[in-house]
Amino acid sequence: MATQVQNHTYQDWLNSVEQLAGNGFANRAFIDGQFCDAASGATFECISPRDGQLLTRIAACDAVDVDKAVAAARASFEAGVWSRLMPKQRKKILQAFAAELEAHADELALLESLDMGMTISDSRTMNLPGAVECVNWYAELADKLYDEIAPTQPNALTRIHRVPVGVVAAIVPWNYPLMIACWKAAPALAAGNSVVLKPAEQSSLTAIRMAELAHKAGIPAGVFNVVPGMGDVAGKALGLHMDVDALAFTGSSRVGGLYMQYAGQSNLKRVALECGGKTPNIVLDDVEDLDKAAAAIVLGAFSNQGQICNAGSRLIVDRRVHRPLMEKVKALAETIVPADPLDPATEFSCLVDARHTANVLQYVQAGQDDGARLICGGEQEGGSGRKCYVQPTIFDHVSADMQIAREEIFGPVLSVIPVDSVEQAIEVANSTVYGLGAAVWTRDMKRMEQAAGAIKAGVIWVNCHDHGDISSPVGGFKQSGFGRDKSVHALDKYVEYKTVWIDLSS
Ligand code: NAD
Repeated sequence: MATQVQNHTYQDWLNSVEQLAGNGFANRAFIDGQFCDAASGATFECISPRDGQLLTRIAACDAVDVDKAVAAARASFEAGVWSRLMPKQRKKILQAFAAELEAHADELALLESLDMGMTISDSRTMNLPGAVECVNWYAELADKLYDEIAPTQPNALTRIHRVPVGVVAAIVPWNYPLMIACWKAAPALAAGNSVVLKPAEQSSLTAIRMAELAHKAGIPAGVFNVVPGMGDVAGKALGLHMDVDALAFTGSSRVGGLYMQYAGQSNLKRVALECGGKTPNIVLDDVEDLDKAAAAIVLGAFSNQGQICNAGSRLIVDRRVHRPLMEKVKALAETIVPADPLDPATEFSCLVDARHTANVLQYVQAGQDDGARLICGGEQEGGSGRKCYVQPTIFDHVSADMQIAREEIFGPVLSVIPVDSVEQAIEVANSTVYGLGAAVWTRDMKRMEQAAGAIKAGVIWVNCHDHGDISSPVGGFKQSGFGRDKSVHALDKYVEYKTVWIDLSS
């Protein structure tokens, strides 16, 4: 177990919290290159789930602030201060932005852990490096993309240009706040757009700090704005705004659907949705390494307390390996104890807030009511201020029609569904409205191909789970959404293709 993260002990992180709190958390909107209060003066509470303490109060932006941010983004876009920069200049500034994120990695990692409860070890060694890598990757891409000439006819020059779409709204969730904000903002900025980011109300702190660092790195005023606030106020105002050209959303499928309605009710802005998931881990009877599979299943179900869109929340296992696999999975899960996210030794901490914790516990109750067998966890870990800690929970002998097998819980609850064949496993895997990811464990190439071909999901892992790289896209089929984050394909959300046809015949 790690007792230090980046050479910092538990006590070091606790001392840093005092320092941060002493200096005061950045808690206002960032519009047109400066911090500002919400025009109404309204604020909302920012409470840490690790101990229930109030960290600060955050500006609660509404339609007036959103208007101001969109106007600043539009003005900067039309002025060309960013949109018409040479791509290599944009690259340099984005690289400087990545360097700022890296230079403030300890602070940002700590803000994230305090704000939404991610373990400091994940926050500092995965979330932060992921965010920095993402910004650097799209910075590099900015001056390496060529446009096209179409093979139309001899006396014509037909150019196809990739042009920035204009003002992009990015709406993000709370589970990996900084990294997902970078997945949206970095390609949008690299393509030359101006951006208005709305963080989730549970996790505004890193987004606000990120805007300040972007500005410091040289991103001009108005090009990157942050409007914290409630989803159904600030988010809705962005969704309905007549001057937002494209909207990139990550969050639940329900709210994703609302954004499609907002677009339809306003200016038909382009919408891309990265939504929920119910990822199956399918273990077939010829699985090569049960220990490796068990470790990946436990990590996949309980990392970030199960608050991952791709969490392997369904284990679909062939009955012939069910018992030996479950012995290993259960033994590993029982070693995990919820603890303070700021302790470098902590691998599993708290859920994002008390409301979400209550939702997760309701699902635990529903599993019991429906007759699934609770074999591990299921309890809240109480104590002073500890309202958001829930044990890793496993239900065995779940059937595919139970609520815990169908709905996204977004918490540390694993549903185990025994099956008798690869065909049945695939059928169960597909028996969901989601299609974000899926994993299959087998040593047989034909079965790998059979599963990879038949499962409807954006990513299929074979003999691993939730592996990824900034160069490979993520996104969903079905109600998991459409459009892709990461990779070159993410750019499609933020560019228009413009054809210029020049007649050369006379
Ligand atoms: P959420 O849908 O509740 O909120 C997401 C964003 O939408 C937040 O910024 C929120 O303020 C805003 N919002 C909420 N209600 C709104 C409304 N009525 N109108 C406009 N905006 C509104 O999701 P969450 O709880 O923040 O995040 C968890 C969800 O995100 C899960 O479903 C998870 O699977 C999904 N997610 C998906 C991916 C992916 O890549 N596909 C990645 C991470 C998380």
